[in-house]
Amino acid sequence: LNRAPTSERSPISTGLLTGSLDNLSSVRLAGTRCHSCNETVFGTKDLCTNCGRDTVEALPLSDQGKIWSYTIVRHRPPGNYKGPEPFVPFGLGLVELPDGLRVLTPIKAAVDSLQIGMLVRLDISIRQEADGREVVIFGFRPDEQGRA
Ligand SMILES: [Zn+2]
Repeated sequence: LNRAPTSERSPISTGLLTGSLDNLSSVRLAGTRCHSCNETVFGTKDLCTNCGRDTVEALPLSDQGKIWSYTIVRHRPPGNYKGPEPFVPFGLGLVELPDGLRVLTPIKAAVDSLQIGMLVRLDISIRQEADGREVVIFGFRPDEQGRA
């Protein structure tokens, strides 16, 4: 865990992001690739989740992909949901990355505009907590430059 001691920023979840949290343009989703079975998964792992071997390496995942499928979350999720109040429906997509995996992620776009096959780009942002801490969160948004 490489958290800068001067930073009040923390990732939404340990092991999901890579890069410097003080330079958001450097942040990517963290991936793990296995050299034995060639599986690539989202998140930092010590062992391959497919074959169980330790022949894995960390790599940053691609910041571009396309929507493989999606749903629209129309009701406030239970638990400690921290989105806008009052609740605003949002898109939740499976984004296919060129690295050979799909990532479940919020899609930052008008829900009526979502389409399967839509090209999207990683969107790293800050969520300010009530106590002033900053949490680095991720989503994907339509990729304006990348239209097919
Ligand atoms: Zn493996």
